[in-house]
Amino acid sequence: MGFDLPSLLSERNGQGYELHARYLNPQRPRMLHAIGFDKVYERAEGGYLYDGAGVRYADFLSGFGVFGIGHNHPVVRKALHDALDAELASMVQFDCALLPGLLAERLLAKAPGLDRVYFCNSGTEAVEAALKFARYATGRPRVLYCDHAFHGLTTGSLSVNGADEFRRGFNPLVPDTAIAFGDLDALEAELRKGDVAAFIVEPIQGKGVAVAPPGYLAGASKLLRERGALLICDEVQTGMGRTGRFFAYQHDDVDPDIVTVAKTLSGGFVPVGATMAKAWIFEKVYSSMDRVMVHDSTFGSNAAAMAAGLATLAVIEDEQLVSNAERTGAVLMQALRDATETYEMLADVRGRGPADAHHR
Ligand code: PLP
Repeated sequence: MGFDLPSLLSERNGQGYELHARYLNPQRPRMLHAIGFDKVYERAEGGYLYDGAGVRYADFLSGFGVFGIGHNHPVVRKALHDALDAELASMVQFDCALLPGLLAERLLAKAPGLDRVYFCNSGTEAVEAALKFARYATGRPRVLYCDHAFHGLTTGSLSVNGADEFRRGFNPLVPDTAIAFGDLDALEAELRKGDVAAFIVEPIQGKGVAVAPPGYLAGASKLLRERGALLICDEVQTGMGRTGRFFAYQHDDVDPDIVTVAKTLSGGFVPVGATMAKAWIFEKVYSSMDRVMVHDSTFGSNAAAMAAGLATLAVIEDEQLVSNAERTGAVLMQALRDATETYEMLADVRGRGPADAHHR
């Protein structure tokens, strides 16, 4: 029979919606037909998608934030071709391969104050590791999270999800506690109970897009430190330069204990997640040889993901994408402010800046 991907793609071109309706989540094609987004994209490059007729679509969804360096970036494609051609020994499990070490070194250089990395395969897995590490390291059971928070959809991450529509019907979840985003008094009241392992927070909430009031993260960081609880910054959506700093928490004077990353680190190709933490946390979790695999993943640190991650970090630096995001963000915000003069439905953004727009 053999296998030839180009022939398969051309023989079955256009059948994706029908196949999804029959074999996958049937609501996806239904929803896309209903809103008129039922296109067949054949190619993607940079910020654009192309259909079979060559019509170009600007991709503002950006795969929910996965294409921070654009679609099919040539530098990452070459790194992946090179990794495959090198026939690397990947996922051996009983070895210490070079690429994960190199990616950890490069990633930690972007996060002064953090010392070690655990690699996995998605944002939600990075969050699962963060929650487990925080509980084990502090010996405390409870995690605080924010109303409207989104940290992924596996059971641990769902337990710190602040939206009822995701949680409904999946109980019992882990009994963690929601507090209002931006409310330091609520955080302090929960911390006083003495059983809090950590507070997990997105520096900017992705769902609905809410920016914390000025000083919120720094205030939270201080309260947590005083009470011996950890700050977990979930940078799966906001990290990798997207907000004009490499990590969004770096806009504020905070020193998180754990930071989660995924999405753009993949280069838009190979699923990857990373949980970075302070050394003492890793030293507790992996405290002896018999605990070497107490938290691990078969596919984590695979060569393709590591190569894609390294190439992505190089692209972000070479193309100065962090300062580009800062510049472009400022231009967009100004244009949006100007547009409020003409379009009254936009008036809510008038007078607000990226740091003070607490908008849901
Ligand atoms: N954390 C945040 C802040 C996210 O935005 C997301 C996904 O959108 C996740 C975690 C989960 O990531 P994944 O979909 O890779 O599991």
